[in-house]
Amino acid sequence: MPKKSEKPKKTPQLLRGFKDILPDEQPYWDYVRRSVDAVASTFSFQRIDLPYLEDASLFIRSVGKETDIVEKEMYVFEDKSGETVALRPEGTAGVVRAYIEHGMLNRPQPVKLYYIGPFFRYDRPQAGRYRQFYQFGFEVLGDAHPVIDAQLMMMAYTMFADMGLPVSLQVNSLGSPEARKDYIKALHDYFKSRKNSLPEEDALRLQANPLRLLDSKHPDTQALVQEAPQIVDYLDEESNQHFVKVLEHLDELDIPYVLNPRLVRGLDYYSRTAFEIWPLVSDLPEVPADNSSADAGEATAVADATEKPSAQSALGGGGRYDYLVEELGGQPTSAMGFAIGIERLINELKKRNISIPTLPGPDIFVAQLGDEARKKSLKVFGQLRSAGFRVAESFSKNGLKPQMEQAHKLAVKFTVIIGQKELMDHTILIRDMESGIQETFDAEKMIPELQKRLSKHGVKQNNGSASPAVSVPEQTDADQQKLL
Ligand code: AMP
Repeated sequence: MPKKSEKPKKTPQLLRGFKDILPDEQPYWDYVRRSVDAVASTFSFQRIDLPYLEDASLFIRSVGKETDIVEKEMYVFEDKSGETVALRPEGTAGVVRAYIEHGMLNRPQPVKLYYIGPFFRYDRPQAGRYRQFYQFGFEVLGDAHPVIDAQLMMMAYTMFADMGLPVSLQVNSLGSPEARKDYIKALHDYFKSRKNSLPEEDALRLQANPLRLLDSKHPDTQALVQEAPQIVDYLDEESNQHFVKVLEHLDELDIPYVLNPRLVRGLDYYSRTAFEIWPLVSDLPEVPADNSSADAGEATAVADATEKPSAQSALGGGGRYDYLVEELGGQPTSAMGFAIGIERLINELKKRNISIPTLPGPDIFVAQLGDEARKKSLKVFGQLRSAGFRVAESFSKNGLKPQMEQAHKLAVKFTVIIGQKELMDHTILIRDMESGIQETFDAEKMIPELQKRLSKHGVKQNNGSASPAVSVPEQTDADQQKLL
C-alpha cells in the first residue's frame, strides 16, 4: 500500500503507437506467416533474421539523411558505450549489411532472402500507422536482370490475389542515380519558380529533398505536382530499356499494373524499377494515373466497381537498389526487393470479411478421474502426442462432466478416459464423441485402436514431435458450478 503522502502508482500502459497482438488476433498472423513461408519456399527464398538494433549510420547511409524516415521517424539513441544506435525502421539496409558482412557475394548468385518481423518508426500514430509495425520482405541480391523485377512484383501481387484481396500494382522507373539527380534538379527548379504557391512546410521540404513534394498531402502542392516534370523524361537509355523489358514480362504474366510517373518511394537507395501495392478503397478521389496501361479495376480478386486505388495506406512496396551494396562498402551488386506491412494486410482481410483457413483442431481428448489417474493421464498424453495425434486435455479439472464439456467444445472425435478402475486393470476407455459409445481396451492397444478409428474419419496423424497439443485454460469456479 502506498503511504498517504505518496501518489498511487499509475498502472503501466502501452506506449502511444504500440499495440498488443492478443490471442484472438493470432489466427490472422499465423495465416500471414504461413503464406509468407509458403511463397518463400515456392520461390526458393531463405529466411534471414537480423537484429532490431543496428548502428544508426547504416540507415543514415542507406535510407538517406534527408528522408522522413531518418530525419523524423527513426528511434535513435546512444547506448551505454556511447554508440549511436537505431531501432531498425526498415529491412533492406540490414539485409545488405549482412550480405556484405557474411561474404554472401561468394555464394551462388542471386542470393534470395526473406524476413518477417517488427520495425520501428516514430511516426504520428493513426489508423493503419503504428510506431512498431510488422513487415515481411523478399530480397534478391546479385542479379540485374529485369525478369527479377517482374518476378518480385508477381510474387507481391499474387500473394494478395491468392488471399482474395484486390489490389493495384503501381509501377515506375527511377532511372540511374545520374538520371535521378538531373530529375531532382528539374523538380527543384520547377518548384522554386512557384515557391510562393507552396505551403511553408513544403517550401522547407523543397530545400531538403524535392522528391518529397511528390508525396505531399497539401492540396496546393498536389495541384503543382500535376504539372511538375516527370521522371520518365529523364530516364537514361539503359534504364528505359530495362523498364520496357520489366513491363513486357508483366504483360506476359497478365498482371495488371498502373504506370505511375509520380511514384518515387520515400527512400534514397532506389534506382530503376520502383513499385507499390495499393489497396482499393471506396469514396476516394481518383488517383492520377497518366499513361495507364491497365486499369487497377482489372485485379483478379473481386473488387467493387466503385473502388479506386488509394496511396494513403499503401500495403507495401519495393524496388531495385543496384547501388546500395557498393554504397555500404561491398562489391557492386545489383539487387531488388519489396516489403509488405502486415497490420495493413490483416486490416484488408478483415475489411473484406475474408475467412482465413484455420489449422485443424485436436482429434483426441484425454480425460482423467482422480489424482492417481491424473498422473497416468499425463503420461498417456505424452504417448499420444509422440504417436502424432493432435491431443487436448484439461488436467486440472475434477469430475468427468466438465472435461466432457471441453471435449465437445473442441469437437474432438474421441476421448480417452482413465479412472481408478482403468488404472488397476491397465486399460483405457475410448469414447466415441459422436455416438457416445464407450469401449474398454488394453492400454497397449490404445494407439493402434485410435489410429484405426481416426483413419476411418480420414484423419492423418502428424509424424510425432511436431504435432500440436492443445491445453484448455482452467475454468473458474463459477464455470464449474454451471456445468455440474
Ligand atoms: P515502406 O518501407 O515505407 O515502403 O513501407 C512498406 C509497408 O510497410 C507500407 O506499405 C505499410 O504497409 C507498412 N508500414 C510502413 N510504415 C508503417 C507504419 N508506421 N505502421 C504500419 N505499417 C507501416
